[in-house]
Amino acid sequence: MKIISNVEKLREEIKNLKISKNGTVGLVPTMGALHKGHLSLVEKCRKENDIVIVSVFVNPTQFGPNEDYDKYPRTLDADAKLCEDAGVDILFAPSPKDIYDEYYFKNKETTLICPPYDVVNKLCGKSRPGHFDGVCTIVGKLFNITKCDRAYFGKKDAQQLFIIKKMVRDLNFDIEITGCPIVREEDGLALSSRNTYLDNNARKNALNISHALYKVKGLCKKGVKEADTLIDTALAYMENLEVEYAEIVSVDTFEKIDIIEQSTENKALMLVAAKVDSNGSKVRLIDNIEL
Ligand code: AMP
Repeated sequence: MKIISNVEKLREEIKNLKISKNGTVGLVPTMGALHKGHLSLVEKCRKENDIVIVSVFVNPTQFGPNEDYDKYPRTLDADAKLCEDAGVDILFAPSPKDIYDEYYFKNKETTLICPPYDVVNKLCGKSRPGHFDGVCTIVGKLFNITKCDRAYFGKKDAQQLFIIKKMVRDLNFDIEITGCPIVREEDGLALSSRNTYLDNNARKNALNISHALYKVKGLCKKGVKEADTLIDTALAYMENLEVEYAEIVSVDTFEKIDIIEQSTENKALMLVAAKVDSNGSKVRLIDNIEL
């Protein structure tokens, strides 16, 4: 496995691999601190492509001024070991200076990919203004740099997956996007790099998120179909958490659903974001479940 930080070197290496392997390029974009959730994407990518690239980049343009950009976990040596063991061909780990130009560092501005207001200004985007512009911009840049044929994203970040798919359609990227299932701990907690922030008590409280989602799924299966009732149930289960949102939307449109009907069944997604107190600060976690 090659570890590359420079964009031109990466392009050169991909060109060489394409000549020697003569096949498809798969990309798994990440921010590192890799766990089994990320590795499930890598595994799928490895199965479906001849050349596998994982990117590790904590992207400054998707973090708000009061968010955890500086303290986000950076564990490149461990990430490299996991990628090597998973059969990755190239680990692309650039620094911000490899990705953004001097103008950005001077003016804190760059050319952005901005999805429509109504698509980004809800759920996670409501409390994180500019977040999805930053995400689309870095993912668009990675698509252009790697010229990948396929890219793999987790359903854990369901709104992100929806927005990336839309960006690919809207901007005619010739890239197949695959959404991969959420990987959880045995007790239900969705794996996340931010779980490393959780102390024991916070870990216990964080578990209320997935438990609330499972409860709602169970109720829905038993015939409770009104979104308001299901949302109230979720809220009641999310004890010791500062809930940012709990909503039920259509997976196809990300518009709110009021009643889960036959036609929307298996197409309704309950999404939650909540903050949990840990070591004197708040950790923001997200999760979702198909109903
Ligand atoms: P991140 O490093 O958090 O930006 O995540 C990189 C990719 O891994 C994104 O597409 C995430 O949706 C995906 N991912 C993160 N956690 C999980 C998980 N528990 N299960 C499946 N995919 C995940």
